[in-house]
Amino acid sequence: MRKKLIAANWKMYKTPDQTRDFFHDFLPLVHGPDRNAGRDEIVVCPTYLCLEAAVTAAKGSNVAIGAQNLYWEKEGAFTGEVNAAMLLAVGVTHVIIGHSERRQYFGETDDTVNLKLKSAIEAGLIPIVCVGEVLEEREAGLTDDVLRRQCLRAFHKVSAKKAVSLVVAYEPVWAIGTGKTATPQMAADAHAIIRAEAAESFGQEFADKLRILYGGSVKPENAHALMSEEEIDGALVGGASLDPKSFASIVKY
Ligand code: PEP
Repeated sequence: MRKKLIAANWKMYKTPDQTRDFFHDFLPLVHGPDRNAGRDEIVVCPTYLCLEAAVTAAKGSNVAIGAQNLYWEKEGAFTGEVNAAMLLAVGVTHVIIGHSERRQYFGETDDTVNLKLKSAIEAGLIPIVCVGEVLEEREAGLTDDVLRRQCLRAFHKVSAKKAVSLVVAYEPVWAIGTGKTATPQMAADAHAIIRAEAAESFGQEFADKLRILYGGSVKPENAHALMSEEEIDGALVGGASLDPKSFASIVKY
């Protein structure tokens, strides 16, 4: 049994004060007597600026804090960048790598995803590597090829031993922030492709344990159906994670 992981991607939303307010309201909702509260691994990924506020607010709770990005160099003249050691130093445990918005707007490539993945696992951060096809690729029947290529290049020269904590998020780009959700079956099919690729790169035993999240307009109303699919090991949630009640009901699906 793979333990489910529900992660919030806050993108460029919330100030430190708003972060503290969120945790004030959210933590009691996922740590109560409710049967489904705190059942799964919960991660919140705010902006760099709010990481410290989030780590402090979540201290001693069942919620871990992740970053939305990192840079692979150890230090140097890289204006605006933040590396794995800096994230660890403020108490971050997880990091999102290769989100489609970074690929689309900030020049992220399969090769930079690979460099970031290597630096995250080397440092001991839990990486959440995002892959997914755009609408034109899906319509052209290229979803399999795109997912295989993104995984193959992300996993290049990464050893199974070091990648034990790896998490992959399948995020069809056409479903992110659009209100369109992949059907549970579509997501399960894509997850099976990713798992097969992971088996080629790391071996079957590794692939069987690999957690693959679904992301793309996950909401309280569709979380249960998605999470009931055996192939879906959790969710990466954007818009619906900004509100404490909405994110808590996704966590409790
Ligand atoms: C995301 O940002 O990873 C995401 C899936 O966004 P949304 O839930 O808003 O579609």
